[in-house]
Amino acid sequence: MKSIAITIISIWVIGVFFLANAGDKYSLVSIGVGDTGTRHKIALCGAPLEDGRQVGKDKLEIPLTDNEISCLQQKGIPYSIISYDLESLNRATCEKNNRKIDSLRLRAMSPMTTNSVNASAQQGDPINMKYGSLGGYYSFNEITADLDLMRSKYPKLISVKKSIGTTSGGNPIWMVKISDNPDITENEPAGVFDACHHAREPGAMAALMYAMWYLLENYGTNQECKYLVDNRELYFIPMVNPDGYVYNQSTNPSGGGMWRKNRRNSGGGNYGVDINRNYPYQWGYDDFGSSPDPSSENYRGPSAASEPEAQSIISLINSHTIKVGATTHSYGNLYLTAYGYDEFDPEQLDVHNEYLEYVSALNEYSCGTAFLANNVANGRLQDWQLHERGIINIEPEIGSQGFWPSLEFIFPECRENLRCFLYLFWMAGARVEHNRFSLASGGNLAIGANQLVMNLQNRGQSASEPLALTFSASDPYITITDATIAVGSLSSREIRNVSMRFNLASTCPAGHTVKLTVSQNQGGFQRTASALFSLNGNYNFLSFKNNGETKTYLNGDGQLFMNQNALKQTVPQGLLFHDSNGKGFGVCADGFLQFTGSLFNEYQYEQMNNAQITTGGLIIRNANNPIMASSDIGNMLISGEKIIQTLFH
Ligand SMILES: [Zn+2]
Repeated sequence: MKSIAITIISIWVIGVFFLANAGDKYSLVSIGVGDTGTRHKIALCGAPLEDGRQVGKDKLEIPLTDNEISCLQQKGIPYSIISYDLESLNRATCEKNNRKIDSLRLRAMSPMTTNSVNASAQQGDPINMKYGSLGGYYSFNEITADLDLMRSKYPKLISVKKSIGTTSGGNPIWMVKISDNPDITENEPAGVFDACHHAREPGAMAALMYAMWYLLENYGTNQECKYLVDNRELYFIPMVNPDGYVYNQSTNPSGGGMWRKNRRNSGGGNYGVDINRNYPYQWGYDDFGSSPDPSSENYRGPSAASEPEAQSIISLINSHTIKVGATTHSYGNLYLTAYGYDEFDPEQLDVHNEYLEYVSALNEYSCGTAFLANNVANGRLQDWQLHERGIINIEPEIGSQGFWPSLEFIFPECRENLRCFLYLFWMAGARVEHNRFSLASGGNLAIGANQLVMNLQNRGQSASEPLALTFSASDPYITITDATIAVGSLSSREIRNVSMRFNLASTCPAGHTVKLTVSQNQGGFQRTASALFSLNGNYNFLSFKNNGETKTYLNGDGQLFMNQNALKQTVPQGLLFHDSNGKGFGVCADGFLQFTGSLFNEYQYEQMNNAQITTGGLIIRNANNPIMASSDIGNMLISGEKIIQTLFH
C-alpha cells in the first residue's frame, strides 16, 4: 500500500515537472547579424542577446528556446541550428568533467582539501578554490559552505555570511564583506560585487569566489591584497539567484542546467522573472531585450523591483556609500558598461574608458556599452547603479566556452579576470598611477642641473592618502637633490606633475644612459617605476633580449616601430623591430621577448601604440604564444608566455 502511494506521488511530481519545463528546450543557433536591425528583432523575440557569442563580425551564436526560434521564423530572420539540444550537450560536458575530477581525486589519493587535484589550476591560484560537484562548479550548498570556510579560516578579514533577503523559494541571498575589522562598518571606500543574477552562469560565481579567496589567502604575503583588505569595504554576493540555481541542480544534478530566471510562479505554467530586467531605472522602457511576456526568458516582472532578489541588492546598496561595483555574468569575453536601455554613453566616460582599456590590454575581452555590445535591455542593475546611485559598475561576461565549459577552462576563466576585479577594488578608493616621466628640459639629459617630472594621476573614485615619493638612481654620475618628496593627497581624478631635482656630473660620457627610479608610497603600498635617459640624444633606452640570451636589439635614434606583419609570424622567425631609420633591426629568434628597460617616453609609447592594436596598451603576440607581451601606459611589463609583472606587481 505504502509503495503504491509513493508511485502515485512520483508520477504526479514528474507530471508537474514536465509542465514546468514546457518550452524549455534550448538549441544553439547561428544567426547572421550584419545590421543592428536584425539584432533588435532578435531582442524583440525575447532572446537574451548577451548570452550570444559573436563569431567574426557578422555572426551570432546564441542559445534559444523553441519559442524564440519560432519568433525568428515569424520575423523572417534566417538562422541555422548548430545543436538541437544544448542542455544535453552541457550535461554530457559536466558529466565528463565530474568523471575527470573523480579520477584526479583518486590519483591525488587525498581528500580534496587543496586545488592540487584541480587539473587547470596553476601556481598562484588560490589553494582553497576547488572544483565543485556541478561539472566542476560549486552547488548552492557548496557556495554556502565555502563562505563559511572563508570566515573560519580568516575571521579577521571576512564577515560571517549574512542573508540580505529571502527569495520566493525560501532561499537566502548570502552576502559577505571582506575588509579588516569585518564585523564593524568602517569609513572606508566601498564596492559591491555580485554574480549569478542568471542561474545558468556559474562561471561568473566562480570568477568572483576566486578573487575573494585570492584576497584572503594572499593578505599575509602580498602588499596589494593587504592594502585592499585594510583600506576597503568589499561586499560580495556570489549567488543573487539561488532559486534558479537550485532549480538547475534539480533538473541537472551533475550540472548543465539552462534555466536563467528566478522561479516566480507567474501563473499559466510560466515561471521566472529575469532579475536583471527588474531594476527600477528605465524599467519597461521598451521591449528590446526586456519582455512583458511571462513566458519570455527576459520577462521583466509585473512591476519594477517586484522581485525579492532585486529588492535585496537595492537595499544593500541604499544602506551603504558604494563607489564601484561589478555585476558578473557569463559568458562572452565581454566587459560592459552602462547604458543598456538605449544608446547613451555612461557618465564619467573617461573613467569607464580607462578601465576598459586596462581590461582589453590584459585579457583581450571586448568592451563597450551594453547597448552597443549585444546587451540591449532595460531594467538592468548596471543602469540603475550608475544613473540612480552614481556607482561605476562594470558587467563582465566571463569566458568564451559557454555556460558549462570543459574542466580545463574553469580556472583559466577565473584567472584571466582576477586583475580586472582587483582594479575595481582599487578604484573604489584612490589608485594613484604615474602616467609618464619626462625631463623638465623637455628633451635630453644635460650636464649639471636636471629635473625629472613625474605625471601622477589618481584614477580612483576617492581622494588619496598623502603620498610620499622616494627618488633614487644607482649611477656614478648622478647626485639626487630631492630624495624624498611629500606630495600630499590627490583628489579623485586629479592629475599632478611632481618635479624631482638631480645633478649630472660633468665627467658623464656622451651616450651614457642613466636609470632613475621613483618609489611611490600610497598608504603603505609601494609602487616603483623607472625611467631611462641618455646624454646627448643618443637614445639607447629600449633594449630587448631573447629568452636566456642577452642581446640588445634596438639602438639608433630610439624611435621604435614594429613590423606589424612580423608580429603575425610564428616562431622561429619571431618578432621584428626597427627604429625610424630602419636601423637596429631586432629579431627574437625563439619568439620570447623580454623588455629590459621601462618604456618611459610618451612619444615613443605612441609610436609603439600606433604600430599595434589597442589604444590603451601594447600587445605583442605570435601564433604560438597568443599573448607575448603587453604594456600599460609608460611601462613595459610582460615577458615570455605569461605575465610576469604588471603595473601593480
Ligand atoms: Zn547573465
